[in-house]
Amino acid sequence: MIVIMHRRATDAQVNNIVARVEQRGCRVHLSEGEERVIIGVIGNGRPIDPVQFERMSGVERVVPVLRPFKLASREFHPQDTVVNVNGVKLGAKEVVVMAGPCAVENRAQILDAAHAVKDAGAKILRGGAFKPRTSPYSFQGLGAAGLKLLAEAREETGLPVVTEVMAPEMVQLVSTYADILQVGARNMQNYALLHAVGESQRPVLLKRGMMSTMEELLMAAEYILSHGNERIVLCERGIRTFEPYTRNTIDINAVPLLKLLTHLPVIVDPSHGTGKRELVSPVSRAAVAAGADGLIIEVHPRPEEAMSDGAQSLKPAQFTKLMESLRPVAQAVGRTL
Ligand code: PEP
Ligand code: MN
Repeated sequence: MIVIMHRRATDAQVNNIVARVEQRGCRVHLSEGEERVIIGVIGNGRPIDPVQFERMSGVERVVPVLRPFKLASREFHPQDTVVNVNGVKLGAKEVVVMAGPCAVENRAQILDAAHAVKDAGAKILRGGAFKPRTSPYSFQGLGAAGLKLLAEAREETGLPVVTEVMAPEMVQLVSTYADILQVGARNMQNYALLHAVGESQRPVLLKRGMMSTMEELLMAAEYILSHGNERIVLCERGIRTFEPYTRNTIDINAVPLLKLLTHLPVIVDPSHGTGKRELVSPVSRAAVAAGADGLIIEVHPRPEEAMSDGAQSLKPAQFTKLMESLRPVAQAVGRTL
């Protein structure tokens, strides 16, 4: 449940509620808005009688929260969360574009890609060093060497870096180089990994599992939040449907729905969502029109030579054109880019 305090409630009245909640063995989440304080009650403590709380001084009303996710919910935290990554703000007015190759392949490739996407207006560089591949015989990424190259690309361009971490024991290493830890679709319900990134100090890009519901995605975010990390960006990257023409089916509903259900920023990955280069630009525009806070797009200097996901990677010139076409769309929905 949430306890909504009166606009003029005093600190003492708030503290009194907090103490009472904690006496019942529950945890408190305070949301201090401009207008009023909202106290979220979480946990499996002894049953709490809402009527009792409604009678306490300073309380305006008590509202039950029936959803299983609490910290991730709009009810607990009405204002949008803005995740600040070295000055790049996700969830604010500006639509933030992350771009780069599927995988870091070598020094020249990642540096070329980094400069190209920066010149076109991307604000964050993507690139996998540890790749979750369907086949054990496919390129698995450069590993730690790839992380070092990403750090070098950041050094040269000033772009913060997002890269995937696949296992809890790798969180520390990846955090040494990455500005955002990506939890991939295949690991969305790897609870040990969610726990580990929840304890880290780095922002997390949490991608929707390819067969996951909205509620499962938000419960995965809840794991990260409940371990103390509030800097989470959600990513719709397409789900499995019966349609074989595209790699996945972008669930455009997910964008406005998530914006209603949660305060966390929401971005879209049209590259994995479609699997086809020709579809990436129109679907990117649709995502921005639907209210996405950002995009993550695969760009490769020479897609025909890419070691993974070449068919869905844009060439730098195509990416530049896409960025130009996104600006009026962003403007039409009250955003900048
Ligand atoms: C990726 O972004 O490189 C990736 C593997 O995406 P996903 O986890 O969405 O498949
Ligand atoms: Mn990829």
